[in-house]
Amino acid sequence: MPATPDSPHGKTPAAGTATLIDGKALAARIRAGLATDAGRLIAKGVTPGLAVVLVGEDPASQVYVRNKTKACQEAGFRTFDHHLPASTSEAQLLSLVNELNDNPEVDGILVQLPLPPGIDARRVLLAVDPAKDVDGFHPENLGRLLLGQPRFIACTPFGVMKLLEEAGAQLAGANAVIVGRSNIVGKPMAALLIAADATVTVCHSKTRDLPAVVRRADVVVAAVGRPEMIKGDWISPGAVVIDVGMNRLPSGKLVGDVDFAAAATRARAITPVPGGVGPMTIAMLLANTLTAARVRAGEIPKG
Ligand code: NAP
Repeated sequence: MPATPDSPHGKTPAAGTATLIDGKALAARIRAGLATDAGRLIAKGVTPGLAVVLVGEDPASQVYVRNKTKACQEAGFRTFDHHLPASTSEAQLLSLVNELNDNPEVDGILVQLPLPPGIDARRVLLAVDPAKDVDGFHPENLGRLLLGQPRFIACTPFGVMKLLEEAGAQLAGANAVIVGRSNIVGKPMAALLIAADATVTVCHSKTRDLPAVVRRADVVVAAVGRPEMIKGDWISPGAVVIDVGMNRLPSGKLVGDVDFAAAATRARAITPVPGGVGPMTIAMLLANTLTAARVRAGEIPKG
């Protein structure tokens, strides 16, 4: 059934070919707005500051950190880079986190995951001041999101919500299916979609008959980490599909969790990989850091 302006799938029916939801373009617009806001804060004497902590030499993490730092600098933010060797002890890392917690010029702290073996990531994330937890991974911030009192929303699900808005997806009453239940994507995504009045199903590796569950979805969010696992014929005609997956094939090609070419013949709108969710994650990290800086500047209340 083609989507109609009144359907839960949203506006603009697509005749067999999905509209591309351009995360790169949307992220660029958001970042330009953040740069303007940052300029206003800087004029008041408050430069938004993000501390980025990278432990070890993981090549993918090095790329992520470089991209985040570059995006911050382009928006006029100050960055505090801490690249530590893989031999760093948990005590040394915790001591750095405490130092950053106490530094009034640091609005946000990002500890790039994964951490090397021997460091308990849970303990480190718990040590980050929740008021500077711009990744939104601290239990206090995840709990607040569940309670409907968000402070910092985990950047990837936050970006997905912006992409759904961009696609004109009508979420109230829609069947939203999330594939993946990680703490950093699937679970906060579920909280956000519930808050947006969708009827939410969260799938995982023990879900029975996943294709049948996905076929009922008006909105699909794929966050599995398995290349092109979600097939085109699982997608309900007119659905909106957001592909969080980032999988590097042996050929070097980057693909998502959705079989894009096949899904695009059925979906109303779909994100590409790359150029969909990835750039939005970075934009929302900057948005959270700016929010923290606005708290410091007294523009928005603490807490
Ligand atoms: P994760 O922690 O590995 O979680 C994967 C989830 O997928 C788990 O809940 C797992 O179920 C589920 N799963 C695995 N195999 C499945 C199957 N056959 N059927 C149904 N569910 C299955 O991964 P993540 O950190 O959420 O990341 C997911 C993907 O998103 C990865 O490709 C990652 O690179 C990407 N990602 C992208 C961004 C971005 O900015 N673009 C940000 C974060 C993550 P169980 O819980 O039962 O094990």
